[in-house]
Amino acid sequence: EAKRDGRNTLRFFHNNMESDVTYRMALEMELRESLGKSEFVLHYQPQVDGSGTVVGVEALLRWNHIKRGIVGPAVFVPIAEASGLIVQLGSWVIRSACQQLAEWAAVPEMAHLTLAVNVSARQFRQQDFVSETLATIAETGARPDRLKLELTETLLIENVEDTIGKMRQLKQSGISFALDDFGTGYSSLSYLKLLPLDQLKIDRSFVRDVLVDPNDASIARSIVALGQALGLAIIAEGVETEAQRAFLAELGCECCQGYLFGRPMEVHLLEAMIRDMHSA
Ligand code: C2E
Ligand code: MG
Ligand code: MG
Ligand code: MG
Repeated sequence: EAKRDGRNTLRFFHNNMESDVTYRMALEMELRESLGKSEFVLHYQPQVDGSGTVVGVEALLRWNHIKRGIVGPAVFVPIAEASGLIVQLGSWVIRSACQQLAEWAAVPEMAHLTLAVNVSARQFRQQDFVSETLATIAETGARPDRLKLELTETLLIENVEDTIGKMRQLKQSGISFALDDFGTGYSSLSYLKLLPLDQLKIDRSFVRDVLVDPNDASIARSIVALGQALGLAIIAEGVETEAQRAFLAELGCECCQGYLFGRPMEVHLLEAMIRDMHSA
């Protein structure tokens, strides 16, 4: 009995792996084809300050797949990273974000917003990342001081000198930097001190149970203290309830991003939301 179960389990697992590999290969092929077409779109999620005012937005990539519908980045970004396609895709993201910033510059209620863009380690590692980004800013007419790049801790542990050098060059033009998903990686605090960061983002995984899990509350409190000690702004991601918002504010983290304030949304919905807030 046990033997048969074991064999069945094994075969099931094997089939599963096979279909997973097939699926990933299909997606990679389709990703490659989609890069030339306009199947990608940026959605925007509001970031609010302590008074609830929208001070910025994060651009979150969506793949509007002809057959599969909207595919989220959790599915295709890892595939794009593994295959190297993230470099081209990431360039498209920065260009689109800069075009959006340039458009918003002419809209009074949008002009003050910072736009945060996720940059993958592989993309940031490209030798021409700085020159290409600065060229895109110049070509689109975006204000560099409205652009914020979100990096993850992977960049802190490998080739720190290269990272610092690139950050410094980009900061000289006014671009700012946030460290995304903070607390989930393996970054050393001594590196954190060296990097010219502007903001730490408390990862959603600590925010979720911050009211019920004392460990998560302690971690959130420590991140706030660390940010304050290093002179960095703090924002919490994944804030879904008013109670979480109030608790985080109590800890000293007033800026929030999460479903409580708005999901990632199409640009016209974001613009309508902010227009409504202004006329209210
Ligand atoms: P991230 O940068 O940490 O983005 C935050 C993620 O949390 C987003 O998922 C967002 O939709 C989700 N989120 C925001 N508020 C809440 C909330 O209150 N509750 C819950 N449950 N979730 C919330 P999304 O859009 O699926 O993106 C996942 C990840 O994909 C991002 O995590 C980022 O690492 C990556 N990604 C997204 N766009 C890009 C991109 O343009 N380039 C690169 N390299 N990576 C991207
Ligand atoms: Mg992010
Ligand atoms: Mg994040
Ligand atoms: Mg996260």
